[in-house]
Amino acid sequence: MKAASTSTTPSTTAPPTHSAFPPPSTASLARSSRIAPHSHIKALGLTSDGLATSDGAGFIGQNNAREACGVVVELVKTRKFSGRALLLVGAPGTGKTALALAISHELGAKVPFCPMVGSEVYSAEVKKTEVLAEAFRRAIGLRIKETKEVYEGEVTELTPSESENPLSGYGKTVSHVIVGLKTVKGTKQLRLDPTIYEAILKEKILVGDVIYIEANTGAVKRVGRSDAYASSYDLESETYVPLPKGDVHKRKELVQDVTLGDLDAANARPQGGQDIMSVMGSLVRSGRTEVTEKLRREVNKVVQSYVDQGVAEVVPGVVFIDEVHMLDIECFTYLNALLESPMAPTVILATNRGNSFVRGTGDIVAPHGIPIDLLDRCLIVKTDGYTRDQVAKVVQLRANTEGLKLSEGVIDRLAAEGEKSSLRYAIQLLTPASILARLAGRDHIQTEDINEMNALFLDAKTSGSLFNQSGDYA
Ligand code: ATP
Repeated sequence: MKAASTSTTPSTTAPPTHSAFPPPSTASLARSSRIAPHSHIKALGLTSDGLATSDGAGFIGQNNAREACGVVVELVKTRKFSGRALLLVGAPGTGKTALALAISHELGAKVPFCPMVGSEVYSAEVKKTEVLAEAFRRAIGLRIKETKEVYEGEVTELTPSESENPLSGYGKTVSHVIVGLKTVKGTKQLRLDPTIYEAILKEKILVGDVIYIEANTGAVKRVGRSDAYASSYDLESETYVPLPKGDVHKRKELVQDVTLGDLDAANARPQGGQDIMSVMGSLVRSGRTEVTEKLRREVNKVVQSYVDQGVAEVVPGVVFIDEVHMLDIECFTYLNALLESPMAPTVILATNRGNSFVRGTGDIVAPHGIPIDLLDRCLIVKTDGYTRDQVAKVVQLRANTEGLKLSEGVIDRLAAEGEKSSLRYAIQLLTPASILARLAGRDHIQTEDINEMNALFLDAKTSGSLFNQSGDYA
């Protein structure tokens, strides 16, 4: 993006630009949708002595598993977990993913969490080991701190100035935009480049928002919204922050969180990698489309130099491989090697299988379908099933998180369903039941909505029981 042209001439000392990082990839969007059902889970819910509390930060029951995971968190924090993995074993829907997510929350607010399912490695286009390597890279964060020249303040005016389009001869085009910015000290009017106007539209910036505009790149970011008390509401942290003091034009420390996977992907892109090229200085100018081991090594080198200069900090995250029994011997061997790598994230595996064949070996049977040498590196934690009362509490938590109102009897009805089939089935009935309630013009879910959904959909146990002994549908 072009630099902001302003009525006040900005300083030309341009710090290295690495603000315009790649947009979220489809992989990261898929990851957020996987995490969404666990948004009520805030942490492991442990006391300072490592004991499970009853209100549990969103966790109900599962005390032993939570406490064991707390020990793992301590081991990771004290760097005594390298080369090892945590294996969560238990029936479907007993909170294995939720535990893995809670561990990543415990490790820090911006710690990357990269969940995947074992079967994802089987793709026609990408090598199995590549899929694993990419997941590991996406689970390693890089926090880049940089002092930038910015214009910051509360927007008091947004006036696009239009002129005739000289190319087409008709229509209007924005030639510049006047942005009024106010801080506690005063207001300044800036005359800015039209690209800033595009960014303002894209970010849906309104008068009253507190924003900053990077002088060098023209990147625009909303940092809050003003209110009557001359403070602004920060949408991300959901807290009021004071209006920026001092001048509109200032130097400010900006923090950018990316993952090594983002950097690999951006550098592999022939054109789209333009922004990241500047992040990486002279690195990788060729038109690559694939992430190769060589490219990863080059990215690592630049990352290391950033760390050495004190500009960036590596934030190891969590890679979570659900249904790990779906991996084959080649993947397990590679996983062993990845665990040994110096920049490895915390590895959490999960399975609901007992003794199974290790895929790709023909006839070798091992606990959980995992080769003994990898199993040997694992701390194994078991999750338990839920009582009706616990299912009721989790369903209530989910309903609160999703803002759903429940009539009397609904929780009991869902708890009974959850006890009969699974916690996940009970939770899954909530959303379609809410749609049914809305269609009926109600804002409360009633037991009839649950009954109707239950008649339309089958839980896994009922569905299985409808098959006859030869395995065919009866
Ligand atoms: P699977 O083996 O099928 O992947 P899982 O063991 O990973 O299942 P989750 O996906 O973690 O199970 O749990 C299913 C749902 O129930 C999620 O929405 C999760 O957040 C919620 N949940 C599970 N256990 C608990 C718990 N103890 N407290 C609160 N919520 C829970």
